[in-house]
Amino acid sequence: MSVRCDEHGMSNETFVCVHVANSIRDGVACGFVYTSLNPDEEPCAYCKDCDAMLSANGGEWTEALEAKADIKLLCFGCFLKGAQLNGVLH
Ligand SMILES: [Zn+2]
Ligand SMILES: [Zn+2]
Repeated sequence: MSVRCDEHGMSNETFVCVHVANSIRDGVACGFVYTSLNPDEEPCAYCKDCDAMLSANGGEWTEALEAKADIKLLCFGCFLKGAQLNGVLH
């Protein structure tokens, strides 16, 4: 699946929690725990708070967790910006 981004054009879809999406917009790191950096694998990333909640829950999503994470669709270019911002990719 692909998504059109104003900044990056057509790119692969990725999914991040709202906190990661906001941090990319604001330029403030909040943690970036990712499932993959391969654009073909529909990567997901979560901030350290959401990841901690998910881990505490044994990796299971609940309604409360979904409400907190409020997952957003991002293009892969924006996803990489988030990774760089949080120092997991240089
Ligand atoms: Zn989050
Ligand atoms: Zn983008």
